[in-house]
Amino acid sequence: MTTPQVDPTSVEALEERLGDPWDDANPVGFSQVLAADERGELLDAGEQLLDAYGLGSEFVPTSEGGRMTHLPRLISLMRAVFRRDPSLGLGYGASSLIASVNVWTAGSAAQRHAVADLLLRKRKLACGYYELAHGNDLARVEFEALPSGDGLLLNGTKQVISNIRRADAVVLFARTQAGAGSRNHSQVLVDLTRAPADRVTHLPRFRTTGMRGVPLGGVTFQDCPVPSDAVLGAPGQGLETALKSFQVTRVALPGMFLGIVDTGLRTTIQASKARTVYGRAVTDLPQTRSVLADTFADLLLCDAFTTVAARGVHLLPREASLTTAAVKFLVPRVLMDAMGRLSTVLGARFYLRDGDTAVFQKLLRDLQPVGFGHLARVAGQMTLLPQLPLLARRGWAQPRPAPAALFRLDAPLPPLPFDKLAVSGGGQDGLAGSLLEGLESLGDGARTQPLRDRLEAFARELEVLRRESAALAPRELIVTASPAAYELTTRAITLMAASACLNVWRQQSSDPFLGDPAWLLAALHRLDVWRGRAQGPLPEAVRTRLFTELHARHEDARAFDLTRMPLSGWRPSPAPLS
Ligand SMILES: Cc1cc2nc3c(=O)[nH]c(=O)nc-3n(C[C@H](O)[C@H](O)[C@H](O)COP(=O)(O)OP(=O)(O)OC[C@H]3O[C@@H](n4cnc5c(N)ncnc54)[C@H](O)[C@@H]3O)c2cc1C
Repeated sequence: MTTPQVDPTSVEALEERLGDPWDDANPVGFSQVLAADERGELLDAGEQLLDAYGLGSEFVPTSEGGRMTHLPRLISLMRAVFRRDPSLGLGYGASSLIASVNVWTAGSAAQRHAVADLLLRKRKLACGYYELAHGNDLARVEFEALPSGDGLLLNGTKQVISNIRRADAVVLFARTQAGAGSRNHSQVLVDLTRAPADRVTHLPRFRTTGMRGVPLGGVTFQDCPVPSDAVLGAPGQGLETALKSFQVTRVALPGMFLGIVDTGLRTTIQASKARTVYGRAVTDLPQTRSVLADTFADLLLCDAFTTVAARGVHLLPREASLTTAAVKFLVPRVLMDAMGRLSTVLGARFYLRDGDTAVFQKLLRDLQPVGFGHLARVAGQMTLLPQLPLLARRGWAQPRPAPAALFRLDAPLPPLPFDKLAVSGGGQDGLAGSLLEGLESLGDGARTQPLRDRLEAFARELEVLRRESAALAPRELIVTASPAAYELTTRAITLMAASACLNVWRQQSSDPFLGDPAWLLAALHRLDVWRGRAQGPLPEAVRTRLFTELHARHEDARAFDLTRMPLSGWRPSPAPLS
């Protein structure tokens, strides 16, 4: 009998290559990851391993000769890297992804070919969106790419850019004409291997608290000529291209960062199991079990929301501006809170840079950019805010459910429709429709009563949200809106998350764990705690069910996300939990 071959490009194959993280002899194990972090370097053995696996081609759509088929796969692959070493994840690849998505969204055939070729050759592409002076306020970016002769001249400085010194090319967000407004900027693809050396000055490296291995630089261009066809799309379209590209990256990145909390939870379980206090293992204390179960529920909630939003980019691209902005606001906060909570279980050991739990302090530091990095969480709210009145008049007034395939984790996806991404959702919100449809489908009966109670509260909230959003004055739809208006976006976001969880549960009814209402109840409870509508631990039966599953996954070395995939290289736990 022949053993089935593992697809060498699969997530499982990547996991296998990465091997046992707890093995000190593993060149990409935690000992080496931590040593590289202490040196402030990217893990060289990790970069070589990812080169050999061909991770760069995962950022290139199949239509351009790469292996990027769909976002959930890309997230899973990168999550495997983030589980191990987030600096490697960001420094090896996520920054190339952030840049290249602009090219797939707005680039010409020649630009797409050039970037695909660069990534397939395992070279780096940097992305210079921000300037420290202006942060998320992209409309004020000063860096210039102004017309001169038959080309453009680059002038200005970009700071805090991953990989800029070693990148072959960079996508720069630049002012292409003077004036205020949204049509004065463009994205410019600059071939750094051809830029005249005397016109480009690199700044000293920026040192950071976390992600220490990521080479963060800055660059000043002075009268640096580039051809006019370096602009991505039509001149003046830069902000629009960025707003569309963000829809891919602001869901992909939180999805990847989720791997950090997976390892944080695993490390905490491992350490708490071995640690005895008051004559028993820390994991035998009911309070500890409760915190661990809460964190597991948070991971499932985040993964359900992220996965649905990522599938939505393929299936409902018109609505992706809403759902991905919502993920960017909610998921990073839940992940950061979860990691903070785990640190309280570890006690003093979460602070140590040596020993079995040393990786935790690195992960805690590396997690923080999920909140502000790439773009701020509040930018997610800003994307939703001006869309509220139209949502109130259309999608929330006559809710139409999203297709079931959005929530079926194994349903095939069409290629990423970069050409169909839109700046506004046009007032549609399939998740609202699916929330009501899902609630309706529960029917009567004692088994689903606790779910109905929670979900009816969410449905009532939708009606209040619709009324209040319809009444918003124009001054409440801009950056200087009141906190109460921002709060409406928070409420809309939690409704979307609730719908994502409910419908993932509905569509996975034959799965022994995902089809069990326990995890859904837990996720909805955590969502209610997060938005201040509930407090306290999970109901006891739910808590026990979640802890039992968590325990089993820990013992079997399986992921704590929706996939429950085996982490083949990860050594199973030596001492079983009691
Ligand atoms: C490890 C790392 C890697 C990075 N890599 C890159 C890279 O490759 N390329 C790149 O271009 N940049 C990169 N950056 C920069 C980063 O992406 C930042 O997001 C960017 O500098 C702007 O962040 P900021 O917090 O300074 O934003 P600011 O906009 O200056 O935010 C300042 C404060 O204002 C708040 N705020 C902003 N808007 C609003 C609003 N509407 N309402 C209320 N409050 C608001 C923010 O929440 C924040 O609290 C990197 C940073 C790090 C740490």
